[in-house]
Amino acid sequence: SKALGRNSLAVFTPGLGRELMDKLKLESALRTALDRDEFYLVYQPQVSLKTGQLTGVEALIRWKSPALGLVMPGDFIPVAEETGLIVSIGEWALRTACDQIAQLQLDLRRRLNVAVNLSPRQVHQKDFQTMIESALLESGLPANSLEVELTEHLLMRDSEESLEIIERVQALGVKVAIDDFGTGFSNMSYITRFRIDRLKIDQSFVSRCVDDQNSLAVTTAIIALAHSLRIDVVAEGVETPAQAAVLRDLRCDFAQGYLYARPLSLEGLRAMASETTKQ
Ligand code: C2E
Ligand code: CA
Ligand code: CA
Ligand code: CA
Repeated sequence: SKALGRNSLAVFTPGLGRELMDKLKLESALRTALDRDEFYLVYQPQVSLKTGQLTGVEALIRWKSPALGLVMPGDFIPVAEETGLIVSIGEWALRTACDQIAQLQLDLRRRLNVAVNLSPRQVHQKDFQTMIESALLESGLPANSLEVELTEHLLMRDSEESLEIIERVQALGVKVAIDDFGTGFSNMSYITRFRIDRLKIDQSFVSRCVDDQNSLAVTTAIIALAHSLRIDVVAEGVETPAQAAVLRDLRCDFAQGYLYARPLSLEGLRAMASETTKQ
């Protein structure tokens, strides 16, 4: 047709054509996924580097699509962001994580923190604070057991609005963590303006901190900076005992990664958490 014009030629390039088709398929499948109950959460343990004890988990979303199979978040979160679907998918993830971990706390009679990833679009919804409040109320999860993970990117733009959002969430008693720290923009003044509770060192630094002097230097600097501001540090993607040893020497507070556990099903988490409770 006339409207498509010249640019539509690109559609018929074999490689790109497949990509566009896949994206359309993904998008339409994603639109019905919530209604059809195709999402679930897995939970990756976080441990204290001081005591080795399980202290909390990060909730990570999975999509079991009848048409596409198991889809990892890296493959659908960007599309969900683009289409705005992330707002309802993210709300589902937050409410489900609160419900499941509140129940687990009751069953095991122990405390367990849960961290939930939030997208910028979700955070900028008008009723964002009310939504968190109602997720806490309806689940019965204590506010101080919930942590929300935000990316640096969000804090860089709209910093006035971000400041307000963060303060309102913290006023509820919920903790705020900065995800993938060190990978964003170099202007870090925001960490003095927002009273962040935790920094998560990106796994790209953690995975190289043993062999690469520069990564070790960045890791060392992030931990020192955070601690001087009384912010706790979580190292992500810890895979080897050597990495854990370096991080412990640097007084990093918490660690998360395949060395301790892969992301677990709720039942897998229940088994692990009840084992560590008995000890
Ligand atoms: P992230 O928040 O940085 O999550 C950490 C990712 O690293 C997870 O991948 C996790 O499975 C993986 N990982 C954990 N330990 C190790 C390790 O030792 N080695 C390696 N190589 N990888 C490790 P996953 O589950 O595929 O999640 C990818 C990203 O998707 C997350 O990155 C997060 O940005 C996003 N995401 C996941 N769930 C949600 C959600 O509910 N909402 C939103 N908005 N984003 C989500
Ligand atoms: Ca995260
Ligand atoms: Ca991360
Ligand atoms: Ca990441």
